Amino acid sequence: MSSEAAVAPLTSGANRLAKIIDGSQLRRVALCSLMVAALAIPLIISSRYGQVLATRAGIYVLIVIGLNLVSGYGGQISIGHGALVAVGAYTAALGMVDLGLNFWLAACLAIVLTTVFGGLMALPALRLSTWYFALVTLGFAEVVGGLLVEMKWLTHGFSGVVGISMPKIGGWSLQAKDFLWLVIVLNILVFIAYRNLVNSRFGRALVAVRVDPAPAIAAGVSVTKVKLMAFALSAGLAGLGGALFAVQKTVVTPDDFTAEFSIFFLLVMVLGGEGRLWGPLLGTIALLTLPTLMEGLSQWRLLVYGVVLLVLILFAPFGLDGAIAAAWARLRVALGLTPERAPLLPARAMQALNETDAANAHALLDRVDGAQLQVRDIVKTFGGVVALNGVQLSVRAGSTHALVGPNGSGKTTLVNVISGFYPPDSGTVLIADIANAGMAAPVVARLGVGRTFQTPRLLPDLSVLENVMLGAYARERALLVELALRSPRANREREQIMVDAVSYLRFVGLGEKLGVPATSLPHGQQRLVEVARALLGRPRLLLLDEPAAGLSLSELDRLADLIRAIKKLGTTVLIVEHHIDLVADICDHVTVLDQGRVLATGTPAEVFKDEAVALAYMGKTPARLSSATQDR
Ligand code: ADP
Ligand code: MG
Repeated sequence: MSSEAAVAPLTSGANRLAKIIDGSQLRRVALCSLMVAALAIPLIISSRYGQVLATRAGIYVLIVIGLNLVSGYGGQISIGHGALVAVGAYTAALGMVDLGLNFWLAACLAIVLTTVFGGLMALPALRLSTWYFALVTLGFAEVVGGLLVEMKWLTHGFSGVVGISMPKIGGWSLQAKDFLWLVIVLNILVFIAYRNLVNSRFGRALVAVRVDPAPAIAAGVSVTKVKLMAFALSAGLAGLGGALFAVQKTVVTPDDFTAEFSIFFLLVMVLGGEGRLWGPLLGTIALLTLPTLMEGLSQWRLLVYGVVLLVLILFAPFGLDGAIAAAWARLRVALGLTPERAPLLPARAMQALNETDAANAHALLDRVDGAQLQVRDIVKTFGGVVALNGVQLSVRAGSTHALVGPNGSGKTTLVNVISGFYPPDSGTVLIADIANAGMAAPVVARLGVGRTFQTPRLLPDLSVLENVMLGAYARERALLVELALRSPRANREREQIMVDAVSYLRFVGLGEKLGVPATSLPHGQQRLVEVARALLGRPRLLLLDEPAAGLSLSELDRLADLIRAIKKLGTTVLIVEHHIDLVADICDHVTVLDQGRVLATGTPAEVFKDEAVALAYMGKTPARLSSATQDR
């Protein structure tokens, strides 16, 4: 960590400036200064009203950070988030007032209880589409609101819970100013954990859950587990926020938790920038201070407020955080710097990036124990279409096997069946003698099966480097708390994965591109990024679905080199490919599919000599086959 540096080929003065601006030291100093400044807030704000407002803002930021995790990053819209805050607030209030617990215990109870509630709320989210789920959360909020009134014996009904006292440390009761300090300290701690998490494998998986789960599933991510964890975290933060909210208000009543209360948090999140690190802080500051600044314009207040909101939403579609990032990027261009911020890399990854001999890059990676693949009598139909009709395939461990055939012959379907994305109607797939029947795709991935997609599926929100790192998901052992606290193990794993990611990116010729958004690359390069991502999982069996489509000649050469190198590592490769020259060049065996059936199988020389194959595959005679492949 301490030896992180920015990537930038430093040539001109402008780029030297870029190094300074991007320097991790500088970023860290900026973050630390901000934290120190935050700690000084109680000293600067002397007015009682100012303190109340700052405390309220701090509490809201905690809640919105939680909401941002689940809704902003994870895309699971929770409209009823205020209800979780209510559960937290009431638990803490009742714990303190009725059970006589101290604040610290009551707050812990609130966090535990909301986490459980969050888990329950998440259950429908595991099955429902986003908007149905949003409605479920709305319903949940209604139920909670109703119960707060109806369960008088517990909640005291409309009159609410009164007389909630300040937290005590020993015998000393915190004053308003101390309470503000407490809220700020909690904010700093939560922000650090939140920042670590969104930059970890959990954060990448969460973005994938929102944007496109397929590549994450292929890397071994269990979408269910990621959603559950996001909900639990988010609800826990709502519980903490609720407990602090109750203390600050000293009274909680059902009226505090209206639908508007929930909508407010959504608004803050969207305005700040959903799924963006600084969104919760910026959004809260804007939405809480704006009305206060307009105190003088009392009768115009709501109007001005609404107009400002509309303008912001129209002109800052990615929220305040997005607007600031865009302005910063424009400034960089104006200064003649690269528009993208270079990613921070640990020293070892920098070394891998600057390694002069590209061929050495893959030598950094360990050998793997290639898995043998057996496909027996696979049938797969879609409605009336028989995509696979009794397919047999046998791939020796460590060999490179091509799958060819005309469009619609079932190649992609076979890849999907082997990788567990589609369950077959009948037949078995054995990967290193383990039958994958009934296994979900992430479990198959964890068996050591890596894959790419025919149409590249990269996450546009993430950089090339992060997309590749996603591939290593299943290799990391660090638990969620370790990721949040950046434990030594979490750091070690992160560094190793960055080194591997950089090595493979260099190997596919994209070392210079690791900081750019993945989908800004041309199609051919996106395919190479996918190959690198699949490799990061250290697959024992690698399934490549038309990796050469759209590659330039030089990229094609690189791909051939890459596949040879992968083979040297011991990995078994099954490659769907149209370029017969490439197949003949790198593959040990070829299987030809036609209309869901195996037409021929053997060495490339044997198979491509076969008249039937040539006719079925190209409608041409073998003599013209080779030239015909050129224009494919
Ligand atoms: P290939 O990759 O060889 O071009 P595919 O495996 O994509 O072929 O498709 C084989 C057949 O199965 C085609 O007729 C295609 O229309 C059909 N098919 C593939 N996937 C689906 C799906 N998800 N739903 C319905 N039909 C599908
Ligand atoms: Mg296909």
